[in-house]
Amino acid sequence: MVVYRPDYCQSFRCKADKCVHTCCAGWIIGIDEESLKRFSNDPEVVSKIQDGCFIMKDDGRCPFLRDDNLCDMIIRYGEDYLCDICKEHPRFYNTFDDHVEAGIGLACEEACRLALGADKPFKLIADDGSEMELPAYVKKVFDQSKKLAERLSDISGGKRADSRLRAGIFDGMEVMDPKWSRLLAGIIEDPVSEDEEDKMINANEKEFANFAAYLLYRYKGAGRFAAESVYLIADLVVKGCGITDVTRVFSCEVEYSDINIDEALETFG
Ligand code: SF4
Repeated sequence: MVVYRPDYCQSFRCKADKCVHTCCAGWIIGIDEESLKRFSNDPEVVSKIQDGCFIMKDDGRCPFLRDDNLCDMIIRYGEDYLCDICKEHPRFYNTFDDHVEAGIGLACEEACRLALGADKPFKLIADDGSEMELPAYVKKVFDQSKKLAERLSDISGGKRADSRLRAGIFDGMEVMDPKWSRLLAGIIEDPVSEDEEDKMINANEKEFANFAAYLLYRYKGAGRFAAESVYLIADLVVKGCGITDVTRVFSCEVEYSDINIDEALETFG
């Protein structure tokens, strides 16, 4: 089946040892069956696996992640030896009847930089160079006839939680890093007004429109969820966070927990 990806994916290269927030630490790395079979011939690799996952070190780093942040498995055996999750991260795929819509997830700092920093609405391009029109629910967010805050209101059907309630909803989910909770507590203790949110969104139109477009594309038009996520990031930027970095943290906390993303999509469905 033909696979379409946002055009910025063509520029994606893992930053490897230059990555500040490596994805090879702080996660559970589950290994697919085929890779487990392959690894079973290698006693050294087997000694670092338990219950189908790599045994992370006490500091949360993968046992194959060297001190210089390069992967020992790639260096010794090549990239093809990796298990699926390590080969594929941060890519995602949505399969439709006749095509696949793929992309790169924002938990990766390089993906976040590329997706949020794109100067134009992304194009969906297949490997053979053919282009698919953006879904109408994505196009809406790039409509220049209205300010972005108005477009977001349309996309969410006019529904909008106040900032304290919204931050409380996200804080009630499974938290990976207590720092995320502290950031949300700042909004709960001292909420941000809709006016402040809208001003922040309009002042940073490129990044917020790209973020909303990414969410609409990845979650197949989940408008209310996309808008509430943008409002939350706008609140955190009002509180002093950098847009790209806090969007990455949001993605790690909300998108990369199956429980949290299901809850967020259901709550803001
Ligand atoms: S987070 Fe992204 S850039 Fe960093 S190591 Fe992982 S895939 Fe590479």
